[in-house]
Amino acid sequence: MSIILQVAIPSPLRNTFDYLPPEDQGQKIEPGMRVLVPFGKQKLVGFVHAITATSEIAASKLKAAISILDNDPLIPKSIMELINWTAEYYHHPLGDVFVNAVPSLLREIRKKNYVYSKPEAITSSQTNALNKIILNQEQKHALSAIEQHLYEFKTFLLDGVTNSGKTEIYLQTISKICATGKQALVLVPEINLTPQTITRFQERFNLPIAVIHSKLTPQERLRSWFAAKNNDAAIIIGTRSAIFTPMQNPGIIILDEEHDLSFKQQSSLRYNARDLANVRGKIENIPIILGSATPSLESIHNVKRRRYVGLPLPHKVGKAPEPKFHLVDMRSQKLQDGIAENLFGVIEKHLAAEGQVLVFLNRRGFAPVLLCHECGWHANCKNCDAHMTLHQKARELHCHHCSTVKRIPIKCPTCGSNNLVALGVGTEKLELTLQTHFPQAKLIRIDRDTTRRKGSLQKMLGEIQENNCQILIGTQMLAKGHHFPDVTLVAVLNVDNSLFSSDFRANEHLAQLIMQVSGRAGRAEKPGEIYLQTHNPQHPLLLKLISSGYASFARDELQERDITELPPFTHLAIIRAESKTQDMAIEFLRGVRGQVINSTPANAKINVFGPIPAVMERKSGFFRAQLLLQSIKRNVLHQTITALLEQLKINKPASNIKWHIDIDPQELM
Ligand code: ADP
Ligand code: ZN
Ligand code: ZN
Repeated sequence: MSIILQVAIPSPLRNTFDYLPPEDQGQKIEPGMRVLVPFGKQKLVGFVHAITATSEIAASKLKAAISILDNDPLIPKSIMELINWTAEYYHHPLGDVFVNAVPSLLREIRKKNYVYSKPEAITSSQTNALNKIILNQEQKHALSAIEQHLYEFKTFLLDGVTNSGKTEIYLQTISKICATGKQALVLVPEINLTPQTITRFQERFNLPIAVIHSKLTPQERLRSWFAAKNNDAAIIIGTRSAIFTPMQNPGIIILDEEHDLSFKQQSSLRYNARDLANVRGKIENIPIILGSATPSLESIHNVKRRRYVGLPLPHKVGKAPEPKFHLVDMRSQKLQDGIAENLFGVIEKHLAAEGQVLVFLNRRGFAPVLLCHECGWHANCKNCDAHMTLHQKARELHCHHCSTVKRIPIKCPTCGSNNLVALGVGTEKLELTLQTHFPQAKLIRIDRDTTRRKGSLQKMLGEIQENNCQILIGTQMLAKGHHFPDVTLVAVLNVDNSLFSSDFRANEHLAQLIMQVSGRAGRAEKPGEIYLQTHNPQHPLLLKLISSGYASFARDELQERDITELPPFTHLAIIRAESKTQDMAIEFLRGVRGQVINSTPANAKINVFGPIPAVMERKSGFFRAQLLLQSIKRNVLHQTITALLEQLKINKPASNIKWHIDIDPQELM
């Protein structure tokens, strides 16, 4: 009987490739080992996916692998299972899932094998000093619920407002897990993986900690990966891709800010680390804790149907009062650069009381539009259906979609007039306006433009924490994760932008954003106030959110999703396509639509919507379109896609069409 190796190789093809074992091979070969194989004219590192006795390819045509690179499986069984599941569920080429899951150095051909040195325990002198925190009743209840399932698969949703003591629950749970010699994997959004976060773990535990995120060098990443795999790190803190990190002795996975969009990869392999955490928990038979102040509707729904155990922490620890919400009705009020007159008054009041003020505006640059007052010309991007943003200080126009940069024209390119005006407000202009209005105040602006230099964000956050500034201006970057104890006023300038979006998740995301920004304000001695500027003060979403809170908003929104047959009550997949010429992408998707409809039985529960052009049809020179598949039954959706992919293998799309499938898409475009 012959031995055939099924090898996963980084390639756009979805199948594995069959090889004979190396000729002079005496060793036992197992799945999870790396193997060097000839592939066309190249030599590539692949992963043994399975070992079988037969191949569809004639034995005489099979090539032999060159060599086996590992003595033992490099990728343990559980991670192989996770990788296989991921490839199947997301309909993604298996070889490319390995590219996402395994450190790059392990996928390179190297003469010498990688070097690995055991990391030292990173401990601090204050270790364990904080272990004396006495939990309040709600926390006690949550912790004891988790403790009842400490050694089995169970998913908990720790649903607690900012400062309700969620992290404290994570720490005490980890402490129990690690006491038995097991490891904890903690996933956080990129923006939250700050030195402060890591320090908080270091101060608590006298244990080696490994950190895994996208900014590590390949060597650093490899080191952390092995530390986790060999049980040389007890705690692994990482971002999205760390979900694939093997652990010799896995104990628990914790995913903080589980609603955060950064857990969903938006390119190549479009996986959701939150969903993979659940899959992995089941494979490894370990508990999962998802935490958030604003859980995703999916997770809230999973609590409702008893897939997850809900652990509410509705109150802040200590006696901190809840922040108070106000709507600023912008209608018929005098506006100055996007700020209503009476909001200036509120800011002034807080500054006078020596509170810090946070002004949130999710738009960087000076102004989003540059226009000619004589002829109406707009500065548009030549590659995208979008205006270019004016950046005054840099004296440039930037496209925020494709990164094209141009000098600001002195004259209108169409009529030659020099009457060019900047419309709208970005953070750069807002800074100028507020500085002019409050000349005594020290301002700090935090957005992608002011934080390009390494370390600059940390420096500014430090200034804020030490209360060296009075007004903070920021985008999304400032909305999450950071604690600003001296902030007493949070003003959100443009909530209306999201209220009428075509994306059905826009409401959910807006509510989360508002709650997250408002979570930055106030502590025990300094209660916080939140002001939301809007032209729609009667909007039910806003009214519900500020009068009854996020949970109540979520209940209503879920009802709405149920009625309109949207996730989590139905399942979605999007097929996106793009091409250099208009209509080609649409044409391709029209064909796909036909194939789907022809190949599914009339009674199959599947809906096909589109194709429709993207909201911004042209981006970076490509015309984009999408087709939406929807089904109440997840397996029907997946069967349909499997059948479609089989057909696309035979009827290959034209090579100038780029396309992909997004399962459980988080953003429509
Ligand atoms: P969250 O993660 O929900 O924002 P944290 O766990 O970070 O909340 O808690 C907020 C602050 O309150 C932290 O400084 C933490 O040390 C402290 N804290 C948490 N639980 C308690 C408690 N039971 N008693 C006193 N302080 C607590
Ligand atoms: Zn003009
Ligand atoms: Zn552009």
